[in-house]
Amino acid sequence: MSDRKKPAKADPSQWRPRTRLVRGGLDRTKHRETSEALFLTSGYVYDEAEEAERAFAAKDSTRFVYSRFGNPTVAAFEERLRMFEGAEACRATATGMAAVFASLMCQVRAGDRVVASRALFGSCHFIISDLLPRYGVETQFVDGTDLDQWQAALTKPARAVFLETPSNPMLDVIDLKAVVALAQRAGARVVVDNVFAIGAQRPLDLGADVVVYSATKHIDGQGRTLGGAVLGRREFVETELQPFLRHTGPAMSPFNAWVLVKGLETLSLRLDAQCQTALRLAKRLETRAKVARVYYPGLDSHPQAAIARQQMKSGGSLLAFAMKGGKKAAFAVLDALNLVDISNNLGDSKSLACHPATTTHQRLKPEERQELGITDGVIRLSVGLEDADDLEADLTRATA
Ligand SMILES: *Cc1c(COP(=O)(O)O)cnc(C)c1O
Repeated sequence: MSDRKKPAKADPSQWRPRTRLVRGGLDRTKHRETSEALFLTSGYVYDEAEEAERAFAAKDSTRFVYSRFGNPTVAAFEERLRMFEGAEACRATATGMAAVFASLMCQVRAGDRVVASRALFGSCHFIISDLLPRYGVETQFVDGTDLDQWQAALTKPARAVFLETPSNPMLDVIDLKAVVALAQRAGARVVVDNVFAIGAQRPLDLGADVVVYSATKHIDGQGRTLGGAVLGRREFVETELQPFLRHTGPAMSPFNAWVLVKGLETLSLRLDAQCQTALRLAKRLETRAKVARVYYPGLDSHPQAAIARQQMKSGGSLLAFAMKGGKKAAFAVLDALNLVDISNNLGDSKSLACHPATTTHQRLKPEERQELGITDGVIRLSVGLEDADDLEADLTRATA
């Protein structure tokens, strides 16, 4: 007789982040597969009518009803990301923009106010500047790095604050704790787009109410699928976000969830390597005679370096640098790169560079770009997983 006892069941809440990314949300079927199962199914069947009744009354939380609002593979992704971010609840969406839109639309009503930082991903800016006002929501932009502007904007009550830190593409860093304190006094929930600092910063630990991600970026990290996620308190997710998602339908495909579950397994390792290389490249670029300035939260020369050190455990995988000689010089660098690709995407294993003024931020008026510091010489670099020596050589040659 074997005296081998089955060990006590693991307690996932005790796992460290890397273990969470590999094993969180794993729910094996009767086949005991190693890799997470992919449930490409839109619907589910019930053995008895009563079982269907219970499922629809939401009395049986183990049952899935319809994949627009629940699917086992999507649930595995949500649980894994939830554990990693340290949130009470998580819901996945088809894209990052669906996550951003849902996180705001599920809570605002006509007559509400939303205050946002001005330096946002283009489509997030559009939602706040153009879409929300159509539904009677008053919106106001502030310079996210200027606490006096936040303070002034939040003397009146507001429903929500929306911000991105570090920001795209100039890597401005916003003092999360300070903005949270001002928002709380105004009765506003703080929603943080954390794409640029995934793994480096946990806004919920700093008092933010909601975190949104584009999973398209580092979570997939290999340029394959689109995806998004909203994370926050269980009550917010279940009573406000979930009904909005259920009845409007921006659901993540189970196939994409499966790809993203596999992406999460290596997220931490990839981010460590990418952030380390980003710091090295930022330092290298600072020494180049034709580079006017480097923008990277991990550098001492960053205007908010002290705040970055407090709230981020690394500078992230994105940096920007301004070439002396404007657009012509910036284009010459992009065209001289032979390893780094020219692409507006980011968070990929392949290093990607773009010229924000003529691509991602082309839609802005020149004076709006000026306000955000996006001059014609600026190049944004998303650092990938190539050997740092090869990347440094490519950038050194291209900026010669
Ligand atoms: C890409 C991105 C989004 C939008 O995500 P999609 O998956 O492309 O819809 C939102 N915010 C930031 C900061 C992003 O980089």
